[in-house]
Amino acid sequence: MSPAPQIDAVLARIDDTLPESLERLIELLRIPSISTDPSYRADCARAADWLVADLQSLGFRARAAPTPGHPMVVAHCDGPGRHILFYGHYDVQPVDPLELWHRAPFDPEVQDTPKGRVIRARGASDDKGQLMTFIEACRAWKAVHGTLPGKLTIFLEGEEESGSPSLVPFLQQHRDELACDLALICDTGLYDEHTPAITTMLRGLCKAEFTIRAANRDLHSGMYGGLARNPLHVMARLLAGLHDGQGRVQVPGFYDDVDELPETLRQQWQALAFDHAAYLRDVGLSVPAGEQDRTPLEMIWSRPTAEVNGMWGGYTGAGFKTVLPSEAHAKVSFRLVSRQDPEKIIAAFKAWAEAQMPADCQIFWHGGSDGAPASVMEISDPAFEAARQALSDEWGKPAAFIGSGGSIPVAGYFKSILGMDAMLIGFGKDDDNIHSPNEKYDVESFHKGIRSWARILARIA
Ligand SMILES: [Zn+2]
Repeated sequence: MSPAPQIDAVLARIDDTLPESLERLIELLRIPSISTDPSYRADCARAADWLVADLQSLGFRARAAPTPGHPMVVAHCDGPGRHILFYGHYDVQPVDPLELWHRAPFDPEVQDTPKGRVIRARGASDDKGQLMTFIEACRAWKAVHGTLPGKLTIFLEGEEESGSPSLVPFLQQHRDELACDLALICDTGLYDEHTPAITTMLRGLCKAEFTIRAANRDLHSGMYGGLARNPLHVMARLLAGLHDGQGRVQVPGFYDDVDELPETLRQQWQALAFDHAAYLRDVGLSVPAGEQDRTPLEMIWSRPTAEVNGMWGGYTGAGFKTVLPSEAHAKVSFRLVSRQDPEKIIAAFKAWAEAQMPADCQIFWHGGSDGAPASVMEISDPAFEAARQALSDEWGKPAAFIGSGGSIPVAGYFKSILGMDAMLIGFGKDDDNIHSPNEKYDVESFHKGIRSWARILARIA
């Protein structure tokens, strides 16, 4: 695939109209669309309506679709080529503590800083600035070519910052309308200040909470100590056995559905030259503690984990109580990769734990399993490589397909409910202060972000 020759005219248009693009973003940033606080309900609706009107002005068939919570903005346009869905969210995080803001959070301003020009306001980076990069790319395309860049659906959520309660039901109810060939999600960052990236694999998650019970009541350690089983000892031994000395998880079958990293990705990740020492130093650590035969990036992006999130029992108050407790408790979670099935992993963990219980000890499991598998995108789809090339062209550095240690639920729902893969592409930077006071978005992120989408759409739409 070669980029459309007319892309230069679109890029020039983006450069020429950047001040107007910034003005529009500033207008959207003035609307305090805080989704979690009911007193901003009308403002959320106003932000959705603003976007609908803007998309209509570009020729999209756009509407604010009601939900039990805040509306979803849905917009369509016809065109040739693959049907592509773009996702962003127009709601923002609350602003407190307000006293730490140097300027009112919904009074946006373009400021000069030692590191360049920034747009300062709540939502500037997460996610209004980011979603507007795509809309502005469409606008420039329309101005140059008279048509939008392809067959597009734009889907903007208003509850992302408050747990997305309406998202799954909405996707289920509008499956036919929203299922496209491919999704683009703009809610992530660059790999580093200057290196663009496409997130193509996100780890899944499953969890187990349980109690080990021995005696039928707490015991006096003078009367029973030495004779009676102590479940805290049993728990400690069990959890200590989760990993071997090399960091490998010991639950049988745990790695059965874990795929090796493809060689092309291994090379791309190596080229990123991840500074794991600095990453660890930042949190007061120095040595990678995972599987010893894996690179640090593999440990956080492409390998599964077992982590003890909490363990407690017995007397933990001030002073001493010489109790021999009857119960020990723990919460354990697993980050999943590749084809690992959350239910299968939990079942294997339960069988492994129960098989180790000595006489008089029993495990009680709490809560259901609400796990989610990993999302692994089909990067053999040529659109992925085309988008990677487009990003590399714009930023002057090779873009990489990267992983994400955490999950971005919407990407998983697009796959499980709508059956489509997603490319997660964003232009945020680590110092954007998202969710914090003095949030900003670099004008460079905004400008190059718009140009990036124009280049990507020229290649894949
Ligand atoms: Zn976001």
